[in-house]
Amino acid sequence: MTNLTREQIDGAISFHGHHCPGLTIGLRAAEFCLREIGNAKDEEIVAVVENDMCAVDAVQFLTGCTFGKGNFIFRDYGKAAFTFFRRSDDKRFRIILNPTLCADLRSQMENVPRDSAEGKALRQKMIERLMEAELDEMFNVSIPDEPIPGKARLHKTIACARCGEGTMETRLSEVNGQLLCRICTIN
Ligand SMILES: [Zn+2]
Ligand SMILES: [Zn+2]
Repeated sequence: MTNLTREQIDGAISFHGHHCPGLTIGLRAAEFCLREIGNAKDEEIVAVVENDMCAVDAVQFLTGCTFGKGNFIFRDYGKAAFTFFRRSDDKRFRIILNPTLCADLRSQMENVPRDSAEGKALRQKMIERLMEAELDEMFNVSIPDEPIPGKARLHKTIACARCGEGTMETRLSEVNGQLLCRICTIN
């Protein structure tokens, strides 16, 4: 059963725009981080997420790790996995959604249209089940051995030789002796 407060849950729902099973996975992943690692207001924390679905909004909202601050890192692996690091003592966990959890509901959902009454009822049931689960049954937990991702560094901005738009120097590449931005490199 979740220990998140109504206020935390409602805050994440309004940040995301709706309540859905994906957001609920993120709520519980964030809860795991708050329980074991803390939040980015009190500690230097880095979150690495392996998907860019609904869940990551709850993680950003509740842990305080955000894209803009550079302590929220997206790796496009397509997994419901979340890794949290605390710089002060190197405490870290990688958690991934337990595939057996809600497997029955997921297979039922495959057979009904998403917007049907039945589809909505199944999603609601899944949200409830995900909120009621114990964190330790919900996620498989491991200790990653990679180094903590580095702090975001500030880079110089240089004008692209073709379009003239200011571009972070690390994102320019040399094409026939000219430094081009990625857009100009593709086109
Ligand atoms: Zn959503
Ligand atoms: Zn350009």
